[in-house]
Amino acid sequence: MTAFDYQGSSARILFGAGARARVLEAVDALGCKRALVLSTPHQAEEASAIASLLADRAAGLFTHATMHTPVEITERAIELMRDLGADCTVAFGGGSTTGLGKAIAFRLDTPQISIPTTYAGSEVTPILGQTQAGRKETVRAASVLPELVIYDPELTLGLPLAMTMTSGLNAMAHAAEALYARDRNPISSLMATEGLRALAEALPRIAGSPRDLSARSDALYGAWLCGTVLGTVGMSLHHKLCHVLGGSFDLPHAETHAIILPQTIAFNAGAAADELRPLSAIFGGASPGTALHAFSVKIGAPTALREIGFREEDIGRAAEIATANPYWNPREVTRADIHALLTAAWRGDAP
Ligand code: NAD
Repeated sequence: MTAFDYQGSSARILFGAGARARVLEAVDALGCKRALVLSTPHQAEEASAIASLLADRAAGLFTHATMHTPVEITERAIELMRDLGADCTVAFGGGSTTGLGKAIAFRLDTPQISIPTTYAGSEVTPILGQTQAGRKETVRAASVLPELVIYDPELTLGLPLAMTMTSGLNAMAHAAEALYARDRNPISSLMATEGLRALAEALPRIAGSPRDLSARSDALYGAWLCGTVLGTVGMSLHHKLCHVLGGSFDLPHAETHAIILPQTIAFNAGAAADELRPLSAIFGGASPGTALHAFSVKIGAPTALREIGFREEDIGRAAEIATANPYWNPREVTRADIHALLTAAWRGDAP
């Protein structure tokens, strides 16, 4: 065993089918009296059901969470919190709604409960991405990490199949990059391996039977582990590249992660062969990149950037932006490398 530096997360996790029924108990445990429930417009009805479970601890609903956490929306939510005398938030939804809860906590330091309904993993990271005047900034702060997370797999039974697969691959990307992170530690590697294993087994089962509660529970368990490692160790090429494609080309988050993952892992496979061995053990195949590509095809996930609106003529500009600021990666990255990688991803070639 080599030397390492390990810091566990302080978040409390309640996991289990029906666990949402404990939301009132969770508000009490945080010493709060009036919770503002947050959601996107699309999930307003389900968020209202959560507010009902809160009974007199529900201060109200704010159902305007949206992608990229715009500061104007955060300010509207804060105004409502003040008007209603709310002292905590309950964020019900995917990474976009979790982002709103985090943005409020960043400004007011109010306690947060998160009830995730996708596999994005934001609920267990101290990272906030927010946009102002079209510019995205990323903040890392302890106040941003939700104090309590309720994982209720029943809430994911209706997550559409396409989003289930891309969101699951988004989670797997956190774990794959955690395996070779420069600041990895034995616990992060254990969690990453177990998260990958759980999702690798669960996603094909869900593809065959979307409302299988046992498979949905395994996938959400995997997503928790993958999100946790995203919050504890540094990410490399894969996450930087997806950040550029999302931020500068407005590509959808989970789909972009799903398409890029086999390509970035193939690119790093030689330089991180030992670290990526758990991935090969789970997926088999000649190399981890090709095995991940075959897995995506098997579960019906998209494999080509051209399928999600990325234009071939933008490859050069994306490669330029992605190499403008240096960052650590197990293998050195040049603009020509990224150009070739994005060309393969645009076509959807097996790496
Ligand atoms: P999302 O939150 O944008 O959700 C997409 C749509 O699906 C929304 O309309 C949402 O209401 C709906 N939805 C969510 N769960 C559903 C369900 N169970 N059934 C039906 N519809 C459902 O998508 P996402 O992929 O979860 O999150 C992406 C965002 O999260 C990005 O902005 C990304 O940057 C951020 N993110 C942040 C971190 C972090 O650590 N800061 C980590 C991962 C993702």
